[in-house]
Amino acid sequence: MRILLVEDDKELQRLLRKALADAGYVVDSAFDGEEGHFLGDTEPYDAVILDLGLPKLDGVAVLEKWRKAGKMMPVLILTARDSWSDKVAGFDAGADDYLAKPFYTEELLARLRALLRRAAGLAAAEIEIGPLRIDTRASRVTLSGNPVKLTSQEYRLLAYLAHHRGKVVSRTELVEHLYDQDFDRDSNTIEVFVGRLRKKLDAGLIQTVRGLGYSLDAPAAAK
Ligand code: CA
Repeated sequence: MRILLVEDDKELQRLLRKALADAGYVVDSAFDGEEGHFLGDTEPYDAVILDLGLPKLDGVAVLEKWRKAGKMMPVLILTARDSWSDKVAGFDAGADDYLAKPFYTEELLARLRALLRRAAGLAAAEIEIGPLRIDTRASRVTLSGNPVKLTSQEYRLLAYLAHHRGKVVSRTELVEHLYDQDFDRDSNTIEVFVGRLRKKLDAGLIQTVRGLGYSLDAPAAAK
């Protein structure tokens, strides 16, 4: 999943970037509202973490502009203190959740998982697809009750497909949401990862839709 982090506090941004990357997210970041707005306007993000007190353009204005332009991605706002007026302004501008500073990184990560889940229409932290179970809290996968060992790259790919269950996800979308900008888009890395995932999972779970992409769903018999 690709996350945009807009935070002007350099130290906090550094800490959050690391925590998000460690949790397996691809992170783009901006230090001011103008750059943050531009990135959110032009790049596809699965979610945004947006500080409200920002130079050049404040967070509420950034959020209003995105929503007016029809940008639907979930947005979690960071408020400087536990100020109710900041929260109200943020929610009215289109925020989905908030955290007041200071906060624990673990809580931010849990709220982010919940936002991504809700955006995908999933109710529980555990995703069940046929014989496959994905625990998104612990990044653990089992197949018919047996643990499956995945590399972090394989897990990210599987989790992305699971959050888009039954939909065809193109190779371009996977590259955009799972890899950094320096990723070689012409390489066949995605095919290689999908091939490895298929070998570790039930072969019928990931379908190739010729010319379009991949789709993860329960095999027809197990639906
Ligand atoms: Ca700030």
